[in-house]
Amino acid sequence: MDRRHFFRNTALVTTGALAGCALPGVAQSKPKTPFDVGDTYIPIVGSDEMFPVRRIYCIGRNYRAHAIEMGPNPDREPPFFFQKPTDAIQYVAAGTVADHPYPSLTKNYHYEAELVACLGKGGRNIPVEKALDLVYGYTLGLDMTRRDLQRAMGDQKKPWEIGKSFDRSAPIGAVHRLAQVGHFTQGNIWLKVNGQTKQNADLKQMIWSVAEQISKLSEANELFAGDIIYSGTPENVGPVVKGDVIEMHIDGLPNLSVKIV
Ligand code: MN
Repeated sequence: MDRRHFFRNTALVTTGALAGCALPGVAQSKPKTPFDVGDTYIPIVGSDEMFPVRRIYCIGRNYRAHAIEMGPNPDREPPFFFQKPTDAIQYVAAGTVADHPYPSLTKNYHYEAELVACLGKGGRNIPVEKALDLVYGYTLGLDMTRRDLQRAMGDQKKPWEIGKSFDRSAPIGAVHRLAQVGHFTQGNIWLKVNGQTKQNADLKQMIWSVAEQISKLSEANELFAGDIIYSGTPENVGPVVKGDVIEMHIDGLPNLSVKIV
């Protein structure tokens, strides 16, 4: 066995076992490392603490009209999820317009406006009626998508990760704690490009509620504090080009704006 490989595994397992980690190989306290790779945090409104992001989950086709525009089966099928890497997060402060780089490889770069649930607790096999107990707070975000690549890969029955899980593909606002904003079961969600309304719907049109999403996800993976869930986008997704300004809104949260550069 390669010596370095052996030491790496030994160090991880030992650290995990000593710290009583839920997952093997995950250190609870920061070990000595040859270089830093960085962690991902989102500011919490009204707090000097930051929200540490563990995983980014996203649900697909969660509004009926969007499901129809994306594929052949708009009926209520079981929810499906994908992930983005945590360093895909691009934090955007309220009241600012952040520069968002047009990504490589695509000629059809799409916005998707979404409510984001941020978990403060975890668990497995959470019943729907207990699922909202896991929520720490909410924010809003864009599930930016290289649509041409997503479609091309889907057509070939290959993973569409390259269309969804790339650098800075997850612009997001600050986290609002539950006590400040409550749960989001209804309310207007809209997105404008250069002041023109593109998406305009109501959160109550979600096919799977946030509670149902948490419950379903917890059957596939143990959930942990720090996991966030992009809860799907309404219909009328569409392209942007360099120079466009995207503004998105959810009732009860400050708007999020980015400029494509
Ligand atoms: Mn999405």
